[in-house]
Amino acid sequence: MPSLVYADSEGRIYDLPGLKMAGRSGRVLHPVDLKDLIPLPQGSELFVLPDRLPVGWDQDQDDMVVLDKDPVNAEGNVSAVAAFMAPAYTQTALAAFYRSSLDIPILPLFTYTAVGWWKGRFWAAGFRSDLDTRQDFCNFRPQEVRKKTIAMLKKKKENRLIQHLGKCSLTYGCPAAKNLFLGRWEAPLPTSPVCNAACLGCISLQSEGIPPASQDRITFIPTTEEVADVAVPHLKRAKRPVVSFGQGCEGEPLLQAKLLERSIIKIREETNKGTINLNTNASLPGKVENLIYAGLDSMRISINSTREKYYHAYFRPKGYDQTDVLASWRIMKKAGRFVSLNLFVLPGLTDEMAEIDRLSDLIEELGLDLIQLRNHNIDPDWYLDGIDYKYTGHRTGIKGMITILKKRFPQLRFGYFNPYLRSD
Ligand code: SF4
Repeated sequence: MPSLVYADSEGRIYDLPGLKMAGRSGRVLHPVDLKDLIPLPQGSELFVLPDRLPVGWDQDQDDMVVLDKDPVNAEGNVSAVAAFMAPAYTQTALAAFYRSSLDIPILPLFTYTAVGWWKGRFWAAGFRSDLDTRQDFCNFRPQEVRKKTIAMLKKKKENRLIQHLGKCSLTYGCPAAKNLFLGRWEAPLPTSPVCNAACLGCISLQSEGIPPASQDRITFIPTTEEVADVAVPHLKRAKRPVVSFGQGCEGEPLLQAKLLERSIIKIREETNKGTINLNTNASLPGKVENLIYAGLDSMRISINSTREKYYHAYFRPKGYDQTDVLASWRIMKKAGRFVSLNLFVLPGLTDEMAEIDRLSDLIEELGLDLIQLRNHNIDPDWYLDGIDYKYTGHRTGIKGMITILKKRFPQLRFGYFNPYLRSD
């Protein structure tokens, strides 16, 4: 079994062979299962968690142990360590830590996955959930990204959307923006500075500033010409091209539905290639209908939980509720379009039977093509407190959840990315 890892007061990471790596589901600490572990994927990051003490598993005593002193330097403090896995990998257990007190700073909007040390390397609790390599670390050569981004920024000085995405590529390191400038796979089309929800873990706007938003929100509404000027060349030149409205650097795209409608029509006037996708909170079913007529191919609905209580506590919707979201889902499926869920995976909540049963009822009623197993980028304690989470018992594990859903819905796909849908 991998050993516990901890960080000293300088942030240097050590292993502690006497204690085994542990994990967490919801609020429950537990040993991790070897079958749930993989070598830490290339392109992942390691985080030292301030004011949080590492918790390991004492295999002999079969007990959880909090490490509150540095075994090497008794004067020194220790901190817990977590992994932020690379895209296309889904977590099965959160990092095991103990909060030194309740009024400590909230962790920024990243995922904090269990990690340990074994056989000379780091191991994380997760699995590869999508074989598509569009965001694999090894596929991005920084110099090439920089050169091609700057070249297009110079060529399209007048296009504000290109200039915005240039910052996403060079400053935020957004893989989708990089792929736009590299002319391949999925490219982003952000359009909306505003949103009709106030998600607890919104990565583009945090009103109180704590935790900080991960990137700034777009500040303008592009024109149809600017959108088409990004989308059409990409759809024509890229391999397996997808263009997606609804990105981490904007609010809700459905609030710009007229622009999306005009843009889709203009794009389809110029090319029939590729997939036009919408990542959305699906709050406005009427607008969705118009986009279907315009030619929208697929829709990805963001959701933290299918249970209404947790959905509303997290999304804090303004002027809509979950029934509107389900109505958008129904309209897309009735029109025979492709629908996926952007399921924010949090071990302990996502794999509770109550969640799986509610999700199954919705799939039964509405139909579904794909579940994208995205790790929830949020401080787990802050999140569970924020939605007033109550454990209902009986967890299956994330892999167990997938096994159950596959048995109930053999046609249902699982992955991480918006698929390319066309045969061209
Ligand atoms: S729906 Fe998206 S943009 Fe709107 S608050 Fe939630 S995360 Fe932020």
